[in-house]
Amino acid sequence: MRILISNDDGYLAPGLIALVNALSTIAEVVVVAPERNRSGASNALTLDKPLSVTKTGDNVFVVDGTPSDCVHVALTGLLDYVPDLVVSGINQGQNMGDDTLYSGTVAAATEGFLFGVPSIAFSKMDKGWDNIEDAARFALEMVQHKLDVVDKPFLLNVNIPNCPYDQIKGIQLTRLGKRHQSEPVVKSMDPRGRPIYWIGPAGIAKDGGPGTDFYAAGEGYVSVTPLQIDLTHNQQLEKLKKVWR
Ligand code: MN
Repeated sequence: MRILISNDDGYLAPGLIALVNALSTIAEVVVVAPERNRSGASNALTLDKPLSVTKTGDNVFVVDGTPSDCVHVALTGLLDYVPDLVVSGINQGQNMGDDTLYSGTVAAATEGFLFGVPSIAFSKMDKGWDNIEDAARFALEMVQHKLDVVDKPFLLNVNIPNCPYDQIKGIQLTRLGKRHQSEPVVKSMDPRGRPIYWIGPAGIAKDGGPGTDFYAAGEGYVSVTPLQIDLTHNQQLEKLKKVWR
């Protein structure tokens, strides 16, 4: 098996390194990852400049672009084969509910999925890198034992609790919850007296009831949500077809 690994925290992130170490035990792994932290990059592709790719080790390529750039370049020219799986992460911090729209971690996996390659985004709950080896061990087990029955190509969004491996309660299959709208921007002043704005924190869970990713994660389970990309609002579409003539 050949696995392409990327992320949005940058190629030096402990979450990526833990994932590489774990998956290398069962597969040929190639890393194509951003040179720096591009969290929140969503599905952005860089179209206003060329991308540089630097080989920094055996099967490690660093790109001065976004997570989507990395997987796009890998699948459309850098690699001379199609990997069996694209794995993104392990992200520092959860990607649940509306986070999935902004997440570079999910975006890297989405790019694989859009090219027809089965893809998984792994995130670990909470900030910090504690228990990252435990999360990687879980990711390995999932790749090894859980994927045979999933229809291909798939796009799975996986959030792993921030706890030792033994304390992970198991897997819950979930739908995306929803967040309240984000907190307001934080306005400040730069040293020259000009206003600057920091994007505020994400909102807390609004729809976090049973069946959602928020709920499963809160209960200590790994949340697995199968994703799709079609954004069509079919109900609205059908209604408008009747009234807009
Ligand atoms: Mn990130």
